[in-house]
Amino acid sequence: MKGEKKIIITIDGWSSCGKSTLAKQLAKELNYVYIDSGAMYRAITLFFLRNHIDWTKPKQVDDALQNIVLQFMYNEKSKQSEMHLNDENVEYVIRDLVVAEKVSDVAAIKDVRTFAVDQQRKMGNHKGIVMDGRDIGTVVFPKAELKIFMTADKAIRIGRRFKELYEKNPNVTIEEVRDNLEMRDYIDSHREVSPLRQAEDAVVLDNSNLTEKQQFDLALKWAREKLEKKA
Ligand code: C5P
Repeated sequence: MKGEKKIIITIDGWSSCGKSTLAKQLAKELNYVYIDSGAMYRAITLFFLRNHIDWTKPKQVDDALQNIVLQFMYNEKSKQSEMHLNDENVEYVIRDLVVAEKVSDVAAIKDVRTFAVDQQRKMGNHKGIVMDGRDIGTVVFPKAELKIFMTADKAIRIGRRFKELYEKNPNVTIEEVRDNLEMRDYIDSHREVSPLRQAEDAVVLDNSNLTEKQQFDLALKWAREKLEKKA
């Protein structure tokens, strides 16, 4: 029947572009599963930091990965799926700057990426998924039906992330947020393994001057067009 088929939607782009906001809205509207791939890299980083893993040493990394179980579990209260690291809900602690400062280094490690990507691909087995990250349309699901590449002016992105972090911690400064964002963008787009880049068949969504509603309407239109084609 028309519209019954499910697709895979990937959303990649620079840090703090609003990828997860859009991904969550699309997943809700289409009744799809939303997967925040960045949360997986953040949880791995948290484990490494807590256990004093020297991630420049491949053996330490591989041993540590064997002791990590990542799961997304739905929280009835927050009405969203949250990241669990070895049965502990780490959804909030992984958003700290302490983790953000190291996550791009950890995410650049080949074995870390293989570990995360294997799990991400399994989550897409039944389609009906919206996943956001940096390499989802290029590496994780190169055949995804809809690939969105998000971007926005840097100043706007810094302002958004600052507001988000300030609400949780009023001691955070705009300089810290700017440095972190610039550093992550640089490492994410210059690393050897799966660097952030726009897939050739991705549609670009620059939301610098769009409201959340406008951006959502546009992306939903793209998704519906792909669904029509598939039906
Ligand atoms: O999306 P988020 O900002 O939470 O991601 C945190 C970090 O995880 C990114 O800065 C990037 O280094 C890494 N990441 C990645 N590949 C993904 C998703 C996130 O390398 N697919």
